[in-house]
Amino acid sequence: MNVIEPGQTIGILGGGQLGRMMATAAKHMGYRVAVLDPTPDCPAAQVADVHIEAAYDDGAAAEELGTWSDVVTYEFENVDEEVSRFFEKKGKLPQGSLSLSVSQNREKEKGFAEKANINVPAYRIVQTYVEVKQAVRDIGYPAVMKTISGGYDGKGQFLLREDADLKEVEKEIGDHRYIVEKWLNIDKEVSQVFTRDQEGNISFFPVAENVHKDQVLFTTTVPASISGVQQTSIQEQTKALALELGVVGTFAVEWFVSDGEIYFNEMAPRPHNSGHYTIEACNVSQFEQHIRALCGLPLLPVHTFPAAKMINVLGRHRESLFHSLPEDKVHVHDYGKHESRPQRKMGHVTIIGSSLDDIKTGEPAWMKSW
Ligand code: ADP
Ligand code: MG
Repeated sequence: MNVIEPGQTIGILGGGQLGRMMATAAKHMGYRVAVLDPTPDCPAAQVADVHIEAAYDDGAAAEELGTWSDVVTYEFENVDEEVSRFFEKKGKLPQGSLSLSVSQNREKEKGFAEKANINVPAYRIVQTYVEVKQAVRDIGYPAVMKTISGGYDGKGQFLLREDADLKEVEKEIGDHRYIVEKWLNIDKEVSQVFTRDQEGNISFFPVAENVHKDQVLFTTTVPASISGVQQTSIQEQTKALALELGVVGTFAVEWFVSDGEIYFNEMAPRPHNSGHYTIEACNVSQFEQHIRALCGLPLLPVHTFPAAKMINVLGRHRESLFHSLPEDKVHVHDYGKHESRPQRKMGHVTIIGSSLDDIKTGEPAWMKSW
């Protein structure tokens, strides 16, 4: 296997906070970093050696990234297909393009999970209003209609509680395909972040428990309040999916726990917001482990603090992030974004401690106004 050594260059498609944290991990290890992103002084560019300021699907810019980079990765899943195939053909994209194309598309994603024998909520693929009505008749209310591709943080989703809600989607539905799925009565949402190296070794981070507000991630807490049996089942199902996809790098799978049953929700072929706690709470972060997998280095065994909580900071809380600075248990991360919007992820904070009770004593007061 091709080992990429410190001093060589890692190219990152996308310059947001995930790219920034990947770049920071890579810099610690002595790599050079090149970033492709259209935004001047974007979060990753602030810590990278090279910034190619161009659109993600700009072929000439991708080629330039290729000339700088010994290996290439991405920090989001909506990478242009031609660009990912370009790097794959050059042998510079160890993650490959399969996980990308599957996780870009909720229809393929659900199909893949089913192929790996994984439990998914009841769903139908729809393209017309007639099909939407048939789908809710089949699976019942409440249901949720989601765009097949391009959605994130609950964007492109319509909650369907009763016939009256169908009116809104009637206007929406056009040439695009959507997925209509059963809206589950969720006890818990958890995620499994893991890393798989190029030889197929897998290293799991602890299962994390996620709380969303308005479909945006609010907190991630470790350990998750699930049983040992549930944890084993999640890890076995995640492993099955990882094998089916041939995952390389850090990857996340989100799960719902509903009436004690575990259902697959979605996956991300990259480090994940619910894995940010690993920066302080584990001996190796999801980002460092990702860089190790890409560069052909062995994965490190994971050791974790007894308890950790990550709290996201959106535009409307950014002031609060700075209020956290004097708090004695709070680790602060600001992503350096120039433009703040009320629902935009601007940073996060992490608290680590000896128990869940211990970290509760460190929670910043502004959390309550989230
Ligand atoms: P996104 O790509 O926007 O993260 P998700 O499918 O993960 O899309 O949906 C965002 C959130 O919406 C989930 O984390 C969950 O809180 C809620 N949600 C999505 N689908 C369902 C469902 N079928 N049942 C209940 N809640 C859901
Ligand atoms: Mg999600």
